[in-house]
Amino acid sequence: EAGGTDASASNNPLPNVKHIIAVGAGKGGVGKSTVSVNLAVGLARAGAKVGLMDGDIYGPSLPTMLGTDRYQVKTISKMIVPFELHGIKAMTIGALVEDDKPLIWRGPMAHGAFQQLATQTDWGELDYLIIDLPPGTGDVPLTMSQLLPLTGAIVVCTPQKVAQDDAKRAIQMFRQLNVEVLGLVENMSYFIGDDGKEYDLFGKGGAEMLAQQAGVPFLGAVPINMNLRRNGDAGDPTANYTGDDQLAKELDALTRAA
Ligand code: ADP
Repeated sequence: EAGGTDASASNNPLPNVKHIIAVGAGKGGVGKSTVSVNLAVGLARAGAKVGLMDGDIYGPSLPTMLGTDRYQVKTISKMIVPFELHGIKAMTIGALVEDDKPLIWRGPMAHGAFQQLATQTDWGELDYLIIDLPPGTGDVPLTMSQLLPLTGAIVVCTPQKVAQDDAKRAIQMFRQLNVEVLGLVENMSYFIGDDGKEYDLFGKGGAEMLAQQAGVPFLGAVPINMNLRRNGDAGDPTANYTGDDQLAKELDALTRAA
């Protein structure tokens, strides 16, 4: 159902999408795209029809993480045809601009790029559209909240204090935009060595405390995992569910929580 955002049912540009969920982070590099991709693939594995939109117009990661950079974008009567791979539909701004060009967007351009990606992609009928947002609190979340009736947002952070300060700001931003915060995910939470021991690199547990303080659900902790990184770089997210049982279990738990 529509959330509390400005976009009402009457001007909803995506009436065939049941739930729109944004994934945001206060800062870059905390694993926002990794969580978006695995959430999308996890929901699809659970039987849902899922779309994934790379709204990170400043640093799109999906071409690499999904391997879409191997394909050309097609359009049919001015609508962009999303890529269909790994059991999901996906589109990224990275596929619409030339490789290796710096992505510099002024406010109105950022607005236009996001809008085009959301409304001119032929998403069809979806149970979930996951939107990977740019890090921080810039123009894109504002555009999104005015354009789309969101179900809510998930915020990703790492255990470090600085990442949590930024995550707090991201939570506040979503609240100001009337977007419900569905929960907080702590990524790169800890590391399990070859010896089977858990190494607490950054001081695990901070995000759970932040979630409590901010009154948002804590959705789970994802450890640092070499396969997760490797499969991300290789554009093969479904391998996260087949190669490494522990990782698959953790990602499944996260998808259920979300
Ligand atoms: P963001 O979208 O927040 O900028 P990414 O999802 O692109 O972050 O992640 C940054 C890098 O860290 C990527 O190379 C990704 O594969 C890696 N990474 C993210 N989460 C993990 C994790 N839990 N374990 C190992 N590598 C990770």
